Amino acid sequence: MTYAEMLIDIAALCEKPYRAKQLFAWVYKRGVEGFDAMTDISIAFRERLKDLYCIKGLKVLDVRTSIDGTRKFLSELDDSNRIESVIIAEGSRLTLCVSTQAGCALGCRFCMTGAGGFMRNLTLGELTGQVFSAKAMLEPDERLTNVVLMGMGEPLANYDNVVKFTGILIDGQGFGLSHNKVTVSTAGLVPAMERFMEESNCSLAVSLNATTDEVRDRLMPINRKYPIDEVITALRAFKGAGKRHVTIEYVVLRDVNDSADDAHRLAQLLRGVPCKINLIPFNEFPGAAFKSPDNQRVNAMSKLLQDHGYTVIVRASKGQEIQAACGQLRGWRDEAKA
Ligand code: SF4
Repeated sequence: MTYAEMLIDIAALCEKPYRAKQLFAWVYKRGVEGFDAMTDISIAFRERLKDLYCIKGLKVLDVRTSIDGTRKFLSELDDSNRIESVIIAEGSRLTLCVSTQAGCALGCRFCMTGAGGFMRNLTLGELTGQVFSAKAMLEPDERLTNVVLMGMGEPLANYDNVVKFTGILIDGQGFGLSHNKVTVSTAGLVPAMERFMEESNCSLAVSLNATTDEVRDRLMPINRKYPIDEVITALRAFKGAGKRHVTIEYVVLRDVNDSADDAHRLAQLLRGVPCKINLIPFNEFPGAAFKSPDNQRVNAMSKLLQDHGYTVIVRASKGQEIQAACGQLRGWRDEAKA
């Protein structure tokens, strides 16, 4: 529940509004596992709360740790749908990658989640539940520093819950992250993107992946509805864009979108968009229709884009051998489990 929702329920229970503040902080900031730990709330009221609500993470079925320290966990939801979430350690950063839907309807051709179809949006409780579950797995000296909504699903297709969730993430009495440490990724749902940029100050990442509509149509069916031009125009037109940068995600596929021409076209397309560019070498998965790119091609693209004045990061692939890397989440137990 959000703080606003707690306030409404607290009023309905004929309690004073400050109780909502106490509850919100106990649940999210202090991360208690039950109402009994809420020592400044009367025992009688705690008993009422126990009858009406629960505080819980998700039912975690499986955790796998990769040699680079990436941890992927598989959770089962109350209706038996399964989702995956990933904890990625990188230098001083510890990032949780959260799923926002069970499955995904957008069917990007390079993504294993898309191949599995769409089941449903996750509830707010299932979004916050991934944070609770991740925190429970951390070592005593570890602390989540970043949250990215880049796991299974298209976050902006689950707009209301995602915006509520990011609100809890950045609330000082909530999970307490800075707004620039929370990133919401989208395949380019233009109207929802525009709304998000107006309504939230969290970071936005747009998954572009191609420099022509012909190629993007082939990779991402959503491009037929919101073609490249519309996506870029929305980013350029955002009046507050000067205040924060957008991340452009570009999955590099061998012989599909990895040429010098692609790099030059991308530079032209993004002119006037305050952004940094993440080049993500494609992670092959069983049955994938694409191949991982040559490192030299990726580095050449990076160099050309930098020559055009862009900040470029080539994303090191994390957790590849446990299929926790970008585009490899699918939400069921792998038969090949070691
Ligand atoms: S890349 Fe993202 S939007 Fe595309 S199918 Fe996969 S989960 Fe959905």
